[in-house]
Amino acid sequence: MNKLVPRMQAKTVYDIDLNALRKAGIRGVITDLDNTLVGAKEPVATPELIKWLSGVREAGFQVVIVSNNSKERVSKFAEPLTIPFIYSARKPMNIAFRKAMGMMGLAPNQTAVVGDQMLTDVLGGNRMGLFTIMVQPIALKDEGFFTKINRTIEKAALTFMKK
Ligand SMILES: [Mg+2]
Repeated sequence: MNKLVPRMQAKTVYDIDLNALRKAGIRGVITDLDNTLVGAKEPVATPELIKWLSGVREAGFQVVIVSNNSKERVSKFAEPLTIPFIYSARKPMNIAFRKAMGMMGLAPNQTAVVGDQMLTDVLGGNRMGLFTIMVQPIALKDEGFFTKINRTIEKAALTFMKK
């Protein structure tokens, strides 16, 4: 069960304490897209997000977007931002996390994972020994069928852990 517990929780990506990450030795961030950076139906980044992403990169962190969503969705979103990305990632499987770390040239203990889902982002990151950060999902109503099932399991897991 402890593999489902994130190292850090934040309401939104904007609330993530970058100094704390730096002090923990983190040099790169693997971020989820849907409901982490923008709502699942938002095709492009908001001005606020663009500003935040450039701040993160100016602060010396590398960023890779790793999403289970399609090539079309992820490339349309990430290419205008000039941020490297991996689509159809099949999180929580290890392969995309490994690939993203390879793209950044970073080890697991230098890499953070940001995401809104316990069963993909947090579980996958924790299994790889990454610094996991869970944010609250942006727009629940636009989610797909499988994500809704995962949310139900997440809720049960959270209730279980509180006991
Ligand atoms: Mg997500």
